[in-house]
Amino acid sequence: MEYRLGVDIGAAKCMLALVAGDGPEIVTYQRMDTDAVLAGPLPPGLALAQAVQQLLERSRIECEDVLGVGVGIPGIVERDQNTVVACPNLEMLNRVALGSEMGAALGLPVFVNNDANLNTLGEYTAGGGSGMRQMAGVFVSAGIGCGLILDGALYEGGDGAAGEIGHTVIVPGGLACSCGSHGCLEMYCSAKALSVVAEELYGRAHISAGAVSEQTAARYAGAQLLIEQAHAGDEPARAALDQAFTFLGYGLANLANTINPRLIVLGGTIPFAWPAGLETVRQVVESTALPAARRNLRIEMSALQNYAGVLGAAALVSLRLGRAAGA
Ligand SMILES: [Zn+2]
Repeated sequence: MEYRLGVDIGAAKCMLALVAGDGPEIVTYQRMDTDAVLAGPLPPGLALAQAVQQLLERSRIECEDVLGVGVGIPGIVERDQNTVVACPNLEMLNRVALGSEMGAALGLPVFVNNDANLNTLGEYTAGGGSGMRQMAGVFVSAGIGCGLILDGALYEGGDGAAGEIGHTVIVPGGLACSCGSHGCLEMYCSAKALSVVAEELYGRAHISAGAVSEQTAARYAGAQLLIEQAHAGDEPARAALDQAFTFLGYGLANLANTINPRLIVLGGTIPFAWPAGLETVRQVVESTALPAARRNLRIEMSALQNYAGVLGAAALVSLRLGRAAGA
């Protein structure tokens, strides 16, 4: 049996999974705090290689039975060198030659890519996008990530920055964004954006006293509180979420008009925490996108949820090694 290893590194949590054959079967996986892996004394490439080796040892799988390792990170990657260009949410990965560092330590090919791209590749090869030649994945967590499948292939753009819809301007001259621009979509619909609204509604002291779920980094506890309040029937919280998902709907209508996908998969912690947002998004797209761009468009929640990233990372190994990517 041949295996591929998928690694999905998020700002708060990361997951490693061993995937059997060319199919989407996860043999075993491990979920860890990202800090527990990356904040130690080892350079990031060696720390991740060590985590991979430990998973293989526990599974009694030899390194030579593994075809390669795919790694998703929340940033921009130079794809030919598998080097991280920028990773604002995990600064220890900035400009790290992650592919070559991990590859040298493991003696395996290691391929690195943007996490939204790999989540989308996972949905395309193993989830609801199976057989879709034109699709997009949009993931709303701390910020907004987006991956594109065009003509049946992952589209990364000239410099790995395709699909950055979170930084398309939706309010000219609006809120300042970490990218240096103003009025970016993710300043209006993301955990970051909702945390700002929560501070306005409830005050900072109330938010820091609240519990933090394992899926939300402490700095975005406000978004979690806002969503809890909305579920409890708080009208201002519901209105704030309605507005955030309305902005997201405009973003997806623009995306539909730009690439005319047949499927947009919606994922990430925010849509999962507030499923009613899906209907808001659908209504905005229905009333905004061109008829031709929305006629055959479905907008669905991610079927693979937390597993899309590792399955996409495993599919990246197949893709880069020239094997079928499980579709
Ligand atoms: Zn921005």
